[in-house]
Amino acid sequence: MEFLIIGAGIGGLATALALHQLGHQVRVFEAAAALREIGAGVVLGANAMRALDHLGVHAAVRAAGSPVTSIGLLDEHGQVLNDVDTRAFTEPLGYDNLAIHRADLQRVLLEHLPVGCLHLGKSLTSFEQSAAGVTAHFADGTQAQAPYLIAADGIRSRVRQQLLPAAQPRYAGYTCWRGVIEAAALGLPPGRSTESWGRAGRFGVVPLGTGQVYWFACISSAEPQNPRYRAFRLADLQRHFAGFHRPIPELLALTTDEQVLWGDIIDLAPLPRFDFGRVLLTGDAAHATTPNMGQGAGQAVEDAAMLARCLQEHPADTTAAFRLFDQRRRPRTTRIVRQSRQLGWVAQLRHPLLVTLRNAVMRRLPAAVNTRQMAFLYAE
Ligand SMILES: Cc1cc2nc3c(=O)[nH]c(=O)nc-3n(C[C@H](O)[C@H](O)[C@H](O)COP(=O)(O)OP(=O)(O)OC[C@H]3O[C@@H](n4cnc5c(N)ncnc54)[C@H](O)[C@@H]3O)c2cc1C
Repeated sequence: MEFLIIGAGIGGLATALALHQLGHQVRVFEAAAALREIGAGVVLGANAMRALDHLGVHAAVRAAGSPVTSIGLLDEHGQVLNDVDTRAFTEPLGYDNLAIHRADLQRVLLEHLPVGCLHLGKSLTSFEQSAAGVTAHFADGTQAQAPYLIAADGIRSRVRQQLLPAAQPRYAGYTCWRGVIEAAALGLPPGRSTESWGRAGRFGVVPLGTGQVYWFACISSAEPQNPRYRAFRLADLQRHFAGFHRPIPELLALTTDEQVLWGDIIDLAPLPRFDFGRVLLTGDAAHATTPNMGQGAGQAVEDAAMLARCLQEHPADTTAAFRLFDQRRRPRTTRIVRQSRQLGWVAQLRHPLLVTLRNAVMRRLPAAVNTRQMAFLYAE
């Protein structure tokens, strides 16, 4: 069977790998002229690592990243509000949570794909499907045909816009800067990632191994694409987070403006369906979530592994496999989108009274509640 995949992000590459391993022909079309190194880190939950194992790349990805064994939730002074030893969830599963540079993950996935399957500089403008197959049209005037098309073209998916024009990304109410830097000199404990919640915003620190550290900073803003934050430079971030505990000012001091990526946090309200005959929505195109649970890329990888399973269960009927994918993936991803959005709301509180109340609750939150909240992620 032959598939067109639109988009070569983590989701598109993982899906190409899953289908290639089943013996299918894949052609991946990516709008960008080059797969550039994306200067940020990503945390893959143990559930995503299990899915990568199903794709046969677990060992290679694991070797390129650094396990995360505990997540500390701190206030802006560095006082612990809550501490989760993630091994309680991950050890029974047999996989680690892993922090990895996005470029390293992309490289591993690409290395396992057949040469020539990736077509760069191909921006899909529209598609049409008939009883015989799907035709994709690209901005350069070319087209491609195959029996099936898989959309992995991200939160602003052109494919989804054609199918469900009303489903537009929604702003979550906060904006985010992130960077990956060399910070061996700070000697941060490996395996421990932290998030510090203060009234001024939220700051996350994730060691990536070999001295590299991925950091992110979120600030609430009623207005999306706020010109004030668009103009923010590193010096502004340093001023904004100056009252935060060590090593936050030190990490910002080690960063240069060129190392910083900025963007509003957006997600997608749960869709009514992912399967549209010969066309399937996957990854952020189907269920983009806020990053608060560190699950967006993980869910894109789970999609790839699940699609492979559904195709194996329906070897002679791909549209039935797409329907099964929709039934199995929509409830889980819907739950993550909703829970992650709520978590973001709590994390970004600014009112002093609510912040005090929230911090008091977080300090007293028993480990069992955390375990219950997270258990479903690792259950399937
Ligand atoms: C600040 C932040 C932090 C995050 N942290 C985490 C984390 O720790 N853990 C985690 O699991 N997830 C995290 N995520 C989410 C994660 O990055 C995404 O869920 C994941 O990258 C989605 O992958 P994707 O392949 O579906 O989409 P994308 O990565 O968006 O890839 C889509 C690809 O399609 C291409 N494309 C777009 N339109 C077209 C077109 N018309 N024609 C052809 N190609 C096209 C794009 O160029 C792109 O390469 C985070 C997200 C953000 C914003």
